[in-house]
Amino acid sequence: MFTWFREKHDFLQYVEEIKPYQLAAERYLSLQREVRGYCAVCQGVRTFKVNSGVYLGDCPNLREGLICECGLSNRNRLIYLAISKEINSDMKGQLAILERTSVLYQKLKEKYPEIIGSEYVGEGMPSGSFQDVCGIKVRHESITQLSFGSSSLDLIVHNDVLEHVFEYRKAFDELYRVLKKEGCLIFTCPFLFMLDRELQRARILEDGSIEFLMDPEYHGDPIRPEGALTFYHFGWGLLKDLTQCGFTDVKLGVLYDVFSGFVSSNHPDYNYGNMLPIIIRAVK
Ligand SMILES: [Zn+2]
Repeated sequence: MFTWFREKHDFLQYVEEIKPYQLAAERYLSLQREVRGYCAVCQGVRTFKVNSGVYLGDCPNLREGLICECGLSNRNRLIYLAISKEINSDMKGQLAILERTSVLYQKLKEKYPEIIGSEYVGEGMPSGSFQDVCGIKVRHESITQLSFGSSSLDLIVHNDVLEHVFEYRKAFDELYRVLKKEGCLIFTCPFLFMLDRELQRARILEDGSIEFLMDPEYHGDPIRPEGALTFYHFGWGLLKDLTQCGFTDVKLGVLYDVFSGFVSSNHPDYNYGNMLPIIIRAVK
């Protein structure tokens, strides 16, 4: 079950408590090829493939790894679980997730047939239009200019998108606009618990060119083979930004559960790079 935090100070206390167990568990996992564990999506004990081929230094990235037989990684199973906790069976609400080509979308669609999936397909396309992506019709949505009507959604979800959005505060304004009153935003992004404010890695200049403030970092992208440029690593200021955009009950949830394959990214620099299994939740 998620434990919720609003303040860095409280979270750091929690981190100190789990740290010895966390490091031992993740060192053990890193050395395995496969482990058995409980999949919150399959709702049973399954085999997890530990290493997805994504590394942080020499360490397998366990946030992208621990892939269940159903195809979902640690990060994707965590967000699936967070979504399922928001939706009780009699809810007839409108859900949207800003991904469409992923296994996570397929799994959500099986359980919530009404869910709307979309991708950021490319620049200059109108949000809400359908584009051909590898032979399937995919709805294009830009997180800073969504086509959803104001106050039209009960739940909106994005999963490691925000770090690629230069104008991320504009994205928060849009997410707020499209939610109904008491509607809920759930998302993940690189969130480094030692940071007070975000670390900006790159920016877009007025002429549209990109200035790199650090070594460029790209993340795997289902649509762009070159990957998606990372503008930010976020910290606790992100929760304040959400509050400033009007959201209430802004909090960070962590669910550290080794048997369920919910462990950290396994970053070799614990103090800077370590990303615990967290989600961020905010209510309109
Ligand atoms: Zn599974």
